[in-house]
Amino acid sequence: MRLVLVGPPGAGKGTQAQYIASNLSIPKISTGDIFRANVSGGTELGKLAKSYMDRGDLVPDEVTVAMVRDRLSEEDAQDGFLLDGFPRNVPQAEVLRDMLKEWGQTLDIVLNLVVDDDEVVRRLAGRRTCSQCGRIWHVEFDDKKDDRCDACGGQLFQRDDDKEETVRHRLEVYQQQTAPLIEFYADEGILVGVDATGPVEEVTRRAMEALRPFAG
Ligand SMILES: [Zn+2]
Repeated sequence: MRLVLVGPPGAGKGTQAQYIASNLSIPKISTGDIFRANVSGGTELGKLAKSYMDRGDLVPDEVTVAMVRDRLSEEDAQDGFLLDGFPRNVPQAEVLRDMLKEWGQTLDIVLNLVVDDDEVVRRLAGRRTCSQCGRIWHVEFDDKKDDRCDACGGQLFQRDDDKEETVRHRLEVYQQQTAPLIEFYADEGILVGVDATGPVEEVTRRAMEALRPFAG
């Protein structure tokens, strides 16, 4: 099965990507992993990407696309894959479609993890990080009554990334960037939404259920 996983920050996409891929026995291919592998492996594309990152610039689409192409050409991806973090926009989605077509392949499904904004804020804005050991606690889910780390006694603080206004801003940016992509895949008839609220195992179960008609 060839699938793409999309979802807002705080939807637990990384975790779901791992579980779903392992349930389907297909490789999980995230752009983060591809970048790191190319940079640490010193490939030409890795060197090129690093030259942009070192200057603080965004890595251009064509470099990302070339890396994804290399990765999807590998042996283990021939019978299916789960893409996480790619495509990010409609032009990338078109490139992916054409790339697969060239190989006589098509995307089977795009799984959209759906969580409402308030739930994401509740998840992320409740996080507290230990200033000593770096462990993350949640005021609500871990029932934290004080601002001390249960593991080492260190002072807990809220990272800027986890502040409510930052979270809301990231969500807005995400919606703006992703809405056209969601529409693109809805038009292609391969978009399936999965409710991503509740326990991790429950969300994985729902995702597997949604994938069943597309399997085989
Ligand atoms: Zn600690």
